[in-house]
Amino acid sequence: MASHACIDPKHHVHDAPGFVHAVERACHERGLRLTPIRARVLGLIADGGKPLKAYDLLEQVRSGEGAGAAAPPTVYRALDFLLANGFIHKLESVNAFVACHHPNTAQHSVPFLICDRCHNAVELEDKHVVAQLDERARALGFMPQAQTLEVHGLCADCARAA
Ligand SMILES: [Zn+2]
Ligand SMILES: [Zn+2]
Repeated sequence: MASHACIDPKHHVHDAPGFVHAVERACHERGLRLTPIRARVLGLIADGGKPLKAYDLLEQVRSGEGAGAAAPPTVYRALDFLLANGFIHKLESVNAFVACHHPNTAQHSVPFLICDRCHNAVELEDKHVVAQLDERARALGFMPQAQTLEVHGLCADCARAA
């Protein structure tokens, strides 16, 4: 698996259109199709910079002009596609979605650090945590299929301000 250069935990998706283009390229390389609604949902999630709840996402899609009129099932299917291909992550504990910093890697488990004050969420880019949990589970004969690792607290900025 290709490794990625991004090891800065402060690395956020700042440039939403650029991010959508990067995913477009990744889709092309992997033989996937980034349909207009998928691109739109992805753009909204990247644009927020912070985890976006499905409810707010639906609201934003509905209030959008032109191509915006998509029914909720269409939006949920777009989310499923983006999740399955590792372009976004779902934060189970806050029921919200964030863009993945490195859309060129396939679907991956990653621990998240979630700030309860400013609601920022960053990926803790440490493969060992995930690998070790996986290993320990397998040692017990357990077949792991998914991991949800979400750490709540205060981010460095909020901790300083507290
Ligand atoms: Zn990721
Ligand atoms: Zn914070």
